[in-house]
Amino acid sequence: MSSTDVAWVAIGSNLGRRGLALARLREALTADGVRIERVSSEILTRPFGVAAQPDFHNQLLVLRSPVPWTPQHWLDHAKGAEAAAGRRQTYHWGPRVADADIILLGVHGEIRVDEPGLTVPHPGLHERPYLRRLLDELGAKEAEHPSQRR
Ligand code: AMP
Repeated sequence: MSSTDVAWVAIGSNLGRRGLALARLREALTADGVRIERVSSEILTRPFGVAAQPDFHNQLLVLRSPVPWTPQHWLDHAKGAEAAAGRRQTYHWGPRVADADIILLGVHGEIRVDEPGLTVPHPGLHERPYLRRLLDELGAKEAEHPSQRR
């Protein structure tokens, strides 16, 4: 499996003090020597799937680990950060305090993963145009826009 030291991670929150939750997620994502290399603006988005809930605060980060990690290790890292930042998910697509998703892996988003618990590029990229905007904002020009290649 291809390891990489670069991950594009989207963080989100739509419960409680949402800006604070994003700050906690950023902090938790720096565990194990990970550096945050780029940070997008923080945007408000409408919830996907189940509309009757508060808007999300969303942000995209480019993270770099001290040594290359497997995709599964990156997923574990993101889930650990969700737990540390106080995630309490209610139901699928429901409100959550802290969400961290792996959007792309690799400097140019070149790594593909298709396993039961992990799909990269993140499948939500097709349905969430704001993710494209945040990728552009962080200079992902050459990072492939995967859904256009399928
Ligand atoms: P969610 O509730 O949206 O945070 O995602 C729930 C599950 O989606 C996680 O437990 C992962 O196993 C799975 N998953 C699949 N692909 C990804 C990805 N690219 N990033 C994060 N979670 C993923």
